[in-house]
Amino acid sequence: MKRVIFVFVCLLLVFGTVNGQYKIRDYGNLTPAQIDTVKQERLQMYRYEADRREVAVKRALLNQALYFNANQANYDVRYYGIHLSLNFSSNSIKGYVDYRIRSAINGLNSVDLDLHDQLSVDSIKIGTTRLSYTHSAGIIAIVLPTAYNSGTEFAMQVYYHGQPVYGWGYTEGGMAFDNKGGYPICFTSCEPFDSRNWWPCKDTPEDKADSLDMYIECPTAYDVASNGVIVSNADIGGGRRMVHWKHMYPITTYLVALTCADFDVTTEIWNYDGHSMPVYGYTLPNDSESKQVFNLTIPVLDIYSDAFGIYPFVNEKLANANAGRYGTMEHQTCSFHESFSYYDPLYLLIHENAHQWWGDMITCKTFNHIWLNEGMGTYTESIFYEKQYGTQAYFNHIYTQEYLGGGTIYVEDPVHEVIFDGNLTYNKGAWVMHMLRGVLGDSAFFKAMKDWAFSEFRYGSATTADFSNVLSRSVGSDMSWFVNQWIYYSGHPDYVISWLCEPDSDHGGYNLYYSIRQGQSGGTYFKMPIRHRFVTTGGNVDTVLWNEEPEEIHTFHFADSVTNVIVDQQKWILRTVTKKPFAMLVLSLPDAILNQPYSQRLAAIGGKAPYYWTYWSGDLPYGLSFQGDTLGVISGTPTWPATFYFTIRLTDSKSPPDTVYEGFALKVRADIPTYTCGDADDSHAVDISDVVFLVNYIFSGGAAPNPLISGDADCSSVVDISDVVYLISYIFSSGLAPCTECK
Ligand SMILES: [Zn+2]
Repeated sequence: MKRVIFVFVCLLLVFGTVNGQYKIRDYGNLTPAQIDTVKQERLQMYRYEADRREVAVKRALLNQALYFNANQANYDVRYYGIHLSLNFSSNSIKGYVDYRIRSAINGLNSVDLDLHDQLSVDSIKIGTTRLSYTHSAGIIAIVLPTAYNSGTEFAMQVYYHGQPVYGWGYTEGGMAFDNKGGYPICFTSCEPFDSRNWWPCKDTPEDKADSLDMYIECPTAYDVASNGVIVSNADIGGGRRMVHWKHMYPITTYLVALTCADFDVTTEIWNYDGHSMPVYGYTLPNDSESKQVFNLTIPVLDIYSDAFGIYPFVNEKLANANAGRYGTMEHQTCSFHESFSYYDPLYLLIHENAHQWWGDMITCKTFNHIWLNEGMGTYTESIFYEKQYGTQAYFNHIYTQEYLGGGTIYVEDPVHEVIFDGNLTYNKGAWVMHMLRGVLGDSAFFKAMKDWAFSEFRYGSATTADFSNVLSRSVGSDMSWFVNQWIYYSGHPDYVISWLCEPDSDHGGYNLYYSIRQGQSGGTYFKMPIRHRFVTTGGNVDTVLWNEEPEEIHTFHFADSVTNVIVDQQKWILRTVTKKPFAMLVLSLPDAILNQPYSQRLAAIGGKAPYYWTYWSGDLPYGLSFQGDTLGVISGTPTWPATFYFTIRLTDSKSPPDTVYEGFALKVRADIPTYTCGDADDSHAVDISDVVFLVNYIFSGGAAPNPLISGDADCSSVVDISDVVYLISYIFSSGLAPCTECK
């Protein structure tokens, strides 16, 4: 206990100090106006992080012949060793890159590498053999002296020099020589396709090298931060220093980075789960703000490791380092940060380092799926706020990312759509993760995130479908409905609710007639569990209703009168909710079966009985007829299987009367409906929604399974709580599958 209190006091001191000095916000206490301010700031930050990359991706995709060189599909780069001397007086570099390349075809006789034309190739060698090549239009086309068959590996070196390229402003990344507040600095920032602006490589995110060495020579007074662990850092004479970093995890080219300046270097040791790892801060001497914020890295590592599995590069290190303009970037094991003068500095620290898991460890395979990097990265910030500042801080942080506009998170056409869209890729992408947590609950959600982290995509690259499959496997039921509706569809549900509470003259207590409609335009309807609070004169009743139909009417029985219905109070769903006064509702009709007698009396809720029914328009099923006035009966024997659409007018007995026109879609089924034991909601899958459906039916007066026996998951011939227990065991604990002979 003593230790716990000690740790708590330490954290208070650390965060209290920073809170007082810098713009680190108290997310637990934000007003709606402050939430909006943060939202605007974040959108600006997203543009800052993303605009340059956006330009580069578009340029790349518009020049596919140049940027997706067909030859590069023929080989796999296993290793890069970058040997560079940095010349701060001429803003130039000189050196070579070592490659280990594995042929992916039989008879590989050429290798194309990406390198900007502003850099000059001096020679290319395999062993002592000099190779012939051409270098134009950003491609070094190298002729191999022998043909290599599939699976064969060979080593190669490319020697080069020149002034590296960096597009100042929001045009292009690469390597820059800059001056930050009087301090010369050389740094790189290359997502997605700008590594070629300073070193020759196969510059696509899909081909991760298995390992990397960085040998960087610079003035003695400077230091170098880069990927991996430091192997050596020594004065080599002549006023020069050689720094050797080695990285032994798979890495994509855009995450290879260095920053070099007269840094102050801090070292802490992170101890976690039997591991001990250095945490470095590389800051310019005059950047005290960065020094303070970098000191918060260990709490960030603890929280993310607890939530998503241990820091993925734990055998090496994590550094945070200052870089120059437009340099904020999640380089693998070495996040770069600009001056923290404008934005909430803690936000940058926790965002960039969230990418060590989402973006670096698992990289989006193509930029159509960039939300896997940025949406997950942004959501992970919320986890930090929750663990550090509490539940309300979590929700407030989530609220700063609420986006109720259109567009899809999936980037269908990266050439013409915005890829790094603050609203969609970052904000709505983060909300998808928040909503997933709301659907699954904490234990299943965090299990799923760890399963994703430790899936076959760990240290690889992945698509939305890959995530959906891993998620479904983790949860034990198909979750593609969730992923697909939120990632591939535009918009969100606009729930329109109304209710009527009336005394139940037959059974005592009260009947609540509750209507929930999805009023959004566009034809997309969302399937979601919706948290409901029914406020009654006897207290609150909380429950979850699964909703997916455009219009649903539920009837509930309560002991006390219901005075209010509160939908999704905490906002677990990206939605709007509108309350409307209750109007008369006509209940829907059950399906008819071909050649079997059918007789249904229309029924309404609300208004004043007796009701008067009139056939208005459309087609009744062949063989059925309508009896109007106060009867409202549809009966006969259907003779043709199809769905028939017609409209009935209902008038009540009020003065003046209310009138509604109700459209029906009455289906005549060709055969007796089949069902699956356990599939209580007839969704054609046995999953968590069946559990919710049964719980609603058994405990909350929700709709019964149709047919009732389809809820009998354990074939006990009754539908009861034991079926719920049986299904939960099956879905979450690998219990027995539902029986097949429920009758
Ligand atoms: Zn990011």
